[in-house]
Amino acid sequence: MITIKSQREIELMRTAGRVVAEVLHVLEQAVRPGITTAELDKIAEKHIRKANCQPAFLGYQGFPASICASVNEEVVHGIPSLRKLKEGDIVSIDVGAVFQGYYGDAAATFPVGEIDEESLRLIDVTRDSLYRGIAMARSGNRLTDISHAVQEYVEQHGFSVVRDYVGHGIGNQMHEEPQVPNFGKPGRGPRLQAGMALAIEPMVNSGTWRVETLQDNWTVVTLDRKRSAHFEHTVIITDGEPVITTAL
Ligand code: MG
Repeated sequence: MITIKSQREIELMRTAGRVVAEVLHVLEQAVRPGITTAELDKIAEKHIRKANCQPAFLGYQGFPASICASVNEEVVHGIPSLRKLKEGDIVSIDVGAVFQGYYGDAAATFPVGEIDEESLRLIDVTRDSLYRGIAMARSGNRLTDISHAVQEYVEQHGFSVVRDYVGHGIGNQMHEEPQVPNFGKPGRGPRLQAGMALAIEPMVNSGTWRVETLQDNWTVVTLDRKRSAHFEHTVIITDGEPVITTAL
């Protein structure tokens, strides 16, 4: 069942979302050659707790950190480690925070120093595909209007969308119904209405859309080991423009 959020719930989600946005902003400034993804995780956890929130990912199905940090060919769910970021890398950071039981979830891919043209384009297309999806998140539209808009934009630019992982409803749980795929025909699935909350999160690969999970049972990588980017926002449907709770 897709829940409709009350005004009070929306306010709590906006608080959680704002903290997630702040964390991503702080991490964007911190990303540079030589920093480890474990250091980024520490910065995130400190910020989340200082804002009276809890890290949503820490302990989730046993996940050992407050952020996911996925480098280059890693798509999602990378575990922060002592790996140092290098000039030319790209790093996808996914952050979740809970405020008084309500969730915010967002992700962004950042360049580490100077990166090649293709990686820059991958990042831009993935970010823009998220906004194409968000533009369809309006009451009266159908769920897969979002999915279709993302896929069409990504494929027009010669990249591919991951099929195995999708966006999701969100509220007083991190993952609620419905699933929000980044591919598929338009005009399918539930009709969107004011008060629905969705985490829309295109994962875009520069080569094949196929992925596999590494031996650590978390890190998802592209099958061809080409690079991948990930952008996500938590969005609440209204009778007008969607509210992006995880935007600053
Ligand atoms: Mg998510």
